[in-house]
Parts: sequence; C-alpha cells; structure tokens
Amino acid sequence: MIPSLLPIHVRPDVVFERGEGAYLYDLSGRRYLDFICGIGVTGLGHCHPRLVAALREQEEKVWHLSNLFEIPEQTRLAQRLVAASFADTAFFFNSGVEAIECSLKMARKYQDSVGHPERYRIITFEGAFHGRTLAAIAAGGQDKHLAGFGPPMDGFDQVPFGNLNQVSGALTEQTAGILVEPVQGEGGIRPAAPEFLQGLRRLADEMGILLIFDEVQCGMGRTGRLLAHEWAGVAPDIAAVAKALGGGFPVGACLALERAASGMTVGSHGTTFGGNPLAMAVANAVLDVMLEEGFFEHIVEMGEKLSARLDRLVKDHPKVVEGDIRGTGLMLGMRCIPPNRDLVVALREAGLLAGPAGDNVLRLLPPLIVGEAEIDEAVGILDSVFAGFDS
Ligand SMILES: *Cc1c(COP(=O)(O)O)cnc(C)c1O
Repeated sequence: MIPSLLPIHVRPDVVFERGEGAYLYDLSGRRYLDFICGIGVTGLGHCHPRLVAALREQEEKVWHLSNLFEIPEQTRLAQRLVAASFADTAFFFNSGVEAIECSLKMARKYQDSVGHPERYRIITFEGAFHGRTLAAIAAGGQDKHLAGFGPPMDGFDQVPFGNLNQVSGALTEQTAGILVEPVQGEGGIRPAAPEFLQGLRRLADEMGILLIFDEVQCGMGRTGRLLAHEWAGVAPDIAAVAKALGGGFPVGACLALERAASGMTVGSHGTTFGGNPLAMAVANAVLDVMLEEGFFEHIVEMGEKLSARLDRLVKDHPKVVEGDIRGTGLMLGMRCIPPNRDLVVALREAGLLAGPAGDNVLRLLPPLIVGEAEIDEAVGILDSVFAGFDS
C-alpha cells in the first residue's frame, strides 16, 4: 500500500526535533553536527536569533497580501539586493526552480521584445541541475530526472561543462541565452573556471544573447562572496538565487539587468505566494547578517581551513577519498572511492550530516557561521569514519 506521504524520497531512520546554530538534535536528544544545512539553505545555522526575531515581529503584523498590493519589506529587499549585486531589478518566488523559470521566461521575452521571437533556445551544460519542473528537468538534461515524463520540453541544447568551443558550436540563430551554474552543486561541486565564465560573457555579448547564472546553491554567501560569479569578475544578465536567501524560509529571487528584464511588462509573469511578508522579513534579516562587516571574510577563512584539513584527509585515507578538494568557500566536495552514500550513512551514524552529489562526491555545505571548533569536530568525525573504510 502506498504510504500516505508520496514515497519519492528515501529517508534515514532519524527525526530531528530542533536545531541550534550548527547543530541538530533528534527526538532522543542526540546531537548532530549539520554540514549539509538542508542542502545549503540554513546558511546562518538553525534558529539564528536575528531570524527568529524577524519572523516573530512579522508574524504579528501580517502574513500574506499577494502581489496585488505593495509589500514594503519586498520593496526593501529588492532595493538591497540590487544595491549589493550586479542587478538593477529583482522579483521574488518561493523556490529555486521558480526563480529559474522566471529567468528562462525573461530571456525568451527579452529576445521577443528586441525583435527576435525566433530566439528561444537556451544552452545548458552537462552535469547541470536547475530544479524539477518540466522546464528545469529539460534544462538539466539528466536522464534520471527526465525518464518517464514524456517528451522533454523543447528549447534546450546541452554541451560539456567548461568547453567554450562546444558552446560556440552549439549557438544558432535560435539561441536566446546560456544558463550555467558558476559552481555546479548537484553535479559534484564542480566550479567553472573564471576564464570559462569570462568566455561565456564574451560570446553572449557578441551574439546578443543573455547570460543566466544559476546561483541557487552557490549564491548568497556560500563561496565567500554574496554571489559566486563575483570571483570571476564577470556579471550575468540574469541570476537566480534561493536556498540560503531565506535561511530556511522558502524564498527565491530572479535578479536581472534592466535591459534583460525589459520584456517583462505588467501581466507577463506572476506569483500568488512569492515574496510574501513573512519570507521578505526573514530574507531581509538574512541580508542584515550577511552584509555586516567581516561576514564574507569569515566564510573565506573557514573555507580555507576546512579545505586544508580535508586535503590532509585525502592524503591520510587514499582508499576512501581521492583527488583535489572541490569547490570554494564553504561549498566543498571530496571524490569518494566507496559509494558516497555509504559514507553519508556512516557519517550520520557518527554524528555528522553531509550529503552526496554527482560524480560520487561527498558534499559539505556547513553553515556559513561555522566556527573553528566545529570544523575540528567535523574533521575528527570524517577522519574516524574514513578509517573504518580504509581497509
Ligand atoms: C536546489 C537547486 C535548484 C532548485 O531549487 P528548488 O528550491 O529545489 O526548486 C536549482 N538550481 C540549483 C543549482 C540548485 O542547487
């Protein structure tokens, strides 16, 4: 008999009751160090006092208005994101995939508005992940996500990640834009080389097409900058962010340059729940914390420490993990030799939550507020669990 909850996820036999900072506590009171953060969402840790206070304050005022009315906290968040990023304008949704959907629609609408309605196709990359709607699984192009759901939505051309020549070769008269994750998350913590992103920017400019960055996972501080592409010194025309933007409250945003957004006129898109007052109050509080002096420097510093310690583990456990540590800031991965999922299970049993990613990678997304003592603790657990896989 089918469970009352649609069984599309396999879950371990543990139930978390509460969280505080970098830790989660299960029903029996056992403590776990959370280095996956609900897949990069609880960037400020669990129940950050400033986020709790912001939610409490808003919950007594008003919860929902819809976008029929002005939401002052939404206007304010848009202004602040615009001031802190490449973007001229922002709009809010409830999830990453909705921000992606808006980005794709915006790129097509832009081309239509500049007299190129025939340009609707988007170039995407192998190993990509953009979410689970019909458009997003077509964009991601992964068989495991597409299988059984009928013909994939038309309009996506996929090429190998990191190969500029193949991108040039795939451009046609119908290309509207290029969609890329500056650091592939699900694909195995694979950062794009700065030169690759710079090359995409050049190609997009030459061809009059739009460059869209999917920063749903790598954005909002994860790599030690507000947006990951800042490291490469290039800006997109459109970017999608989500995960850490709400610190655990569901919220996503589509950020864009004025020119790229020019086709999105009144009535061209919409959402009932997106950008509601609760989400906006929390996201503003997230931004309050992230934009404070030293926040990003802390991520860089902790990321370097953790990365160096992980590198040591690769040398100490050559039968368990191999190769270079992947990623930047606090978005890190190690390639496993045994199945990554077996390591994830063993680590959890030892009190450390990590996640799998593509290419048999063990993914670590610690909270951005992580401290040195917690890094020491995590590395100690990794070391002892890896030792159990050594022989
Ligand atoms: C998680 C993720 C998405 C989808 O976000 P949802 O909130 O699950 O819809 C899209 N792109 C990337 C890079 C992601 O990591």
